[in-house]
Amino acid sequence: MPAAISQHLKSRTTRTRGALPRISVVVPLYNEEESVPELFESLQQVFKQMGEPFELILVDDGSTDGSFRVLEDLHRRHKNIKVIRFRRNFGKSAALSIGFAEAAGEFVITLDADLQDDPAEIPGLLQALNDSYDLISGWKRKRYDPISKTIPSRFFNFVTAKLTGIPIHDFNCGLKAYRREVVKEINVYGELHRYIPVLAHWAGYRVGEKVVQHHPRKYGRTKFGISRFLRGFLDLMTILFTTRYIRRPLHLFGVWGIISFLIGAAIDITLSIEWLLGRTSLSNRPLFLVGFLFIIIGVQFISIGLLGEMITRQERDTQHYSIREYLK
Ligand code: UDP
Ligand code: MG
Repeated sequence: MPAAISQHLKSRTTRTRGALPRISVVVPLYNEEESVPELFESLQQVFKQMGEPFELILVDDGSTDGSFRVLEDLHRRHKNIKVIRFRRNFGKSAALSIGFAEAAGEFVITLDADLQDDPAEIPGLLQALNDSYDLISGWKRKRYDPISKTIPSRFFNFVTAKLTGIPIHDFNCGLKAYRREVVKEINVYGELHRYIPVLAHWAGYRVGEKVVQHHPRKYGRTKFGISRFLRGFLDLMTILFTTRYIRRPLHLFGVWGIISFLIGAAIDITLSIEWLLGRTSLSNRPLFLVGFLFIIIGVQFISIGLLGEMITRQERDTQHYSIREYLK
């Protein structure tokens, strides 16, 4: 690790956090018994080279293989390891969420347990953070995954980047580096782990990315099937609604409602004038009904927007900002 960042990490720590580790590594895992020992070895090696102590939080997301025994064994032999075991499989988001809550470090790294993410990237990610970012997301530019995964994933990343306006290429990379504040603030539930950069961005954190080395899965199999894409898009809708429009639902529905209403009104007013002038008979003008349809849809949308405003009224009274500094 370059001296500058090492120094930076040290000075922050001595001032603010005493003997706590500077860096926490959070690993969610579900049935990864073969991979974990190797992962731990390479983490050890990387941090030894950096000359940094680290805290490792292993979250066993309800594994049904021997993963927990492997974790227990590691925990017995190493002081810097915390192990959290879920009662059943609650999903990667839940696992990350508890890991984030427990992380003591000033900086937090997440990576997958399956050896697809390379611990050797950690110093580089921390370095990139230091160049004034709050979150650095790994970018698996060259991916070692089956094509059934890489192509939809590309599309998915493209759409997400366009809809959210965040110019990164790989939202769902397991390998990420965060400043502590980020993980303590964002709320990763459901399957929102795919959108952590979006959650952080909307809270005002500076999100960057860095190309990282990726590897094929060595042991076991992927835990997410084809359903990941469908769910991914539903989650994208959720995230857009809950981040962008939660405090102004009328802005979303109202605009489309008004547009639809105006189109319908224009059609029907024109037809009515023609009818008044005796130029047409409305009984054989299906367009008149189309106009009605637009008007009804418009009114519906506006009403939904207003209902949304009523429902989210309380939401507006709760915290909806994120403070970066507070000098007293
Ligand atoms: N994972 C988890 N809970 C789950 C599914 C996955 O903790 O319900 C972990 C898994 O063990 C791995 C990481 O999340 O460490 C990424 O999963 P996987 O490698 O299956 O995803 P892929 O690489 O296929 O996207
Ligand atoms: Mg994987």
